[in-house]
Amino acid sequence: MSSSVNDIRTAFLDYFGRNGHEIVESGPLVPRNDPTLMFTNAGMVQFKNVFTGLEHRPYNRATTSQKCVRAGGKHNDLDNVGYTARHHTFFEMLGNFSFGDYFKDLAIELAWNLITKEFGLDKDRLLVTVYHTDDQAFDLWKKIAGLPEERIIRIPTSDNFWAMGDTGPCGPCSEIFYDHGEHIWGGPPGSAEEDGDRFIEIWNLVFMQYEQLTAEERVNLPKPSIDTGMGLERIAAVLQGEHDNYDIDLFKTLIGASVELTGVPAEGKARASHRVIADHLRSSAFLIADGVLPSNEGRGYVLRRIMRRAMRHAQLLGASEPLMWRLLPALVAEMGRAYPELIRAEALISETLKLEETRFGRTLERGLSLLTDASSDMNEGDVLDGETAFKLYDTYGFPLDLTQDALRQRGISVDDDGFKAAMERQKAEARKNWAGSGEAATETVWFELKDKLGATDFLGYDTERAEGVIT
Ligand code: ATP
Ligand code: MG
Ligand code: MG
Ligand code: MG
Repeated sequence: MSSSVNDIRTAFLDYFGRNGHEIVESGPLVPRNDPTLMFTNAGMVQFKNVFTGLEHRPYNRATTSQKCVRAGGKHNDLDNVGYTARHHTFFEMLGNFSFGDYFKDLAIELAWNLITKEFGLDKDRLLVTVYHTDDQAFDLWKKIAGLPEERIIRIPTSDNFWAMGDTGPCGPCSEIFYDHGEHIWGGPPGSAEEDGDRFIEIWNLVFMQYEQLTAEERVNLPKPSIDTGMGLERIAAVLQGEHDNYDIDLFKTLIGASVELTGVPAEGKARASHRVIADHLRSSAFLIADGVLPSNEGRGYVLRRIMRRAMRHAQLLGASEPLMWRLLPALVAEMGRAYPELIRAEALISETLKLEETRFGRTLERGLSLLTDASSDMNEGDVLDGETAFKLYDTYGFPLDLTQDALRQRGISVDDDGFKAAMERQKAEARKNWAGSGEAATETVWFELKDKLGATDFLGYDTERAEGVIT
């Protein structure tokens, strides 16, 4: 098997298809009828109601390659991008699902056969975790995979216990890790160095066997289910003999395009910038294709943060003209066949990227020079005051995380509380002014105007809702 990202995706779906699973399309990034979730962040999202029994499908086994974004809400990997070998804001999660059909034994067998037989991974480089009380899973890994006991690690934390929410289906999980070798810093799961990038989690198998009824009461599910998720980019790295997700074929192409257009090699400090740009291009393009547009609130604000952050990195690489939209054709060429929505929305994505870059480009430069002045005397360990961070936000459209990202390499952090306080003060001030104006109609007029022009032009006053998504 060739091990390009496109071929691995197909091989995964075919394998589970051959094993009785319905091959189902990815759900959209904006979950349908689920206001509790900002973006689809796992394969099981489109099947939530199937797992709880609210919805029935004509199949009880399914497999997908699900578009995921983890850049807001409970799962937020935005700050990891560019700095770890394994995190993206947008990634594809390969999964197989059993809705009350098979359970632990077949789930483990199918997973183990796929990675060791079909994909041919070296067994000696694999290790797994189980929830500390899950003796059943421990024994199955020993029996089915023939793994020695020291490579089946019992983990007592919530990392190995999955729950849909405070109530609902839940259960232990078992994660498969790949050891990329001693030359990379990091330790096995459960050890003090587990945050390193030597042992990389490739696949998570969730065994849904309970239902949490109330905080105290948990019962066995009559028909336990399976939900698994494997990062396509992570398994591609392993199969392509790379340690780093950003060195797989897909990212080589995207980063190559960014290198070509900027003329800056992906070395030294520029390396992280090219990675951030390639990653953020994917999340921005896929979010726009699924109907999200940059705005100052909710999902749109997360998209705006991602786009603006990428633009700062483009600026770091010396790009003085909009860059992101020019990279789009490379992405569409790589991923358009698997995700035709990219092709359908290409013109919209391109326009949206270009417009946002053009608009923000003007203030970005001025904001950055303010930031440079404000931080010129600062050293590692220092903290930028909240007033300045708020001014950058309010006047120059800098999302807080952009300012944080800009100072990160110098080891300078931002006073979050000071930022929030400055925002509160401004809100209170605005309210006072309304009250003091004595004209009841003013507020109505203002809101009408705002509706007409869109929130974008009223960034300074629209902080209330934007605030909720600043994490
Ligand atoms: P990690 O501990 O490495 O952050 P996770 O435990 O948060 O991963 P899960 O929620 O178990 O990840 O998701 C299932 C699989 O999806 C992971 O095993 C991994 O292969 C992949 N994955 C998760 N987050 C990301 C990401 N940000 N970028 C790329 N792949 C990811
Ligand atoms: Mg994670
Ligand atoms: Mg994990
Ligand atoms: Mg996991």
